[in-house]
Amino acid sequence: MSFDVIIVGGSYAGLSAAMALGRSLRNVLIIDSGMPCNRQTPHSHNFITHDGDTPKQIIEAARQQVLAYKTVGLHNGLATRATRTNTGFVVETETGDSFNTRKLIFATGITDVMPAIDGFAACWGISMLHCPYCHGYEVRQQPLGILANGDIAFEFTKLIHHWSSNLVLFTHGKSALTPDQTKNLAERNIAVVEKEITGIVHDKGYISAILFSDGSTHAVTALFARVAFHQHTTIPITLGCALNEQGFIQVDDFQRTTVPGIYAAGDNTTMFRSVAGAVAAGNKAGAMVNKELIDEDF
Ligand SMILES: Cc1cc2nc3c(=O)[nH]c(=O)nc-3n(C[C@H](O)[C@H](O)[C@H](O)COP(=O)(O)OP(=O)(O)OC[C@H]3O[C@@H](n4cnc5c(N)ncnc54)[C@H](O)[C@@H]3O)c2cc1C
Repeated sequence: MSFDVIIVGGSYAGLSAAMALGRSLRNVLIIDSGMPCNRQTPHSHNFITHDGDTPKQIIEAARQQVLAYKTVGLHNGLATRATRTNTGFVVETETGDSFNTRKLIFATGITDVMPAIDGFAACWGISMLHCPYCHGYEVRQQPLGILANGDIAFEFTKLIHHWSSNLVLFTHGKSALTPDQTKNLAERNIAVVEKEITGIVHDKGYISAILFSDGSTHAVTALFARVAFHQHTTIPITLGCALNEQGFIQVDDFQRTTVPGIYAAGDNTTMFRSVAGAVAAGNKAGAMVNKELIDEDF
């Protein structure tokens, strides 16, 4: 089967691109493996018209609206490979299907790498938080922790302090803060705890305390953490798309990657992660791909 555009990844960015393309009368196939990064979070915030909805509710409403456009189809499954052809690309899936397309959009997101701390993964997105704009309001003025070290820890602590001054920084090993940073935090009564963390005490993902290797605990109601990540799929890389220094797919202002005919949108391209941002980027990618197709055909 042949399409104008295949969108790999059918979450916020991918569905948004699909809507722009469906409304542009394009034959589109979305291939989605159903693993959005926020799937464990009970409520999504900071996206107008859907503030407080579950991630699933937002996806389901989006899918319903997008698939109402008759030229847009959805394949539930994993894309495993893509290669260039004379007319565009061919995309293969783990079920052995293959689809031809003139253009490709990767809206594949990223995978957060959970640190080897017992209980951390179970709390991720519930009380182990990555972003104050998404979840800071709900834990405002509560006893919070930051799990980070060095310059990132200082900047993150500064940011989270806006939502709660009842704050402790856990460096999980020797502090790499500068003397100035340490003094600045001390002046604001923000303790720096260097003890090694061995576990998170929680009930169904809701944290009550941090457990240290010396057996002691520290009570918090939420912990903000910056974790490592990798691209959810390496297909864009095997097609030659460049990554930037931080590991995101390099795109220009029109969501074009460094490979002609391939676009990317959403978390896989930016450290500014939000549903609204992914929807905006997907919307732009859809319009720009349509424009490229018009330019080729007119
Ligand atoms: C725990 C957590 C909580 C969050 N809470 C909020 C919040 O409250 N508010 C907010 O605005 N933002 C929140 N965010 C950020 C927000 O979820 C992301 O910015 C957003 O999901 C990015 O959308 P995306 O479409 O780029 O990627 P994702 O939503 O991650 O979706 C990527 C999709 O691509 C699919 N995919 C990947 N590779 C393949 C492949 N090879 N074949 C087929 N499909 C593939 C995946 O299965 C997935 O469905 C949160 C993030 C996290 C991690």
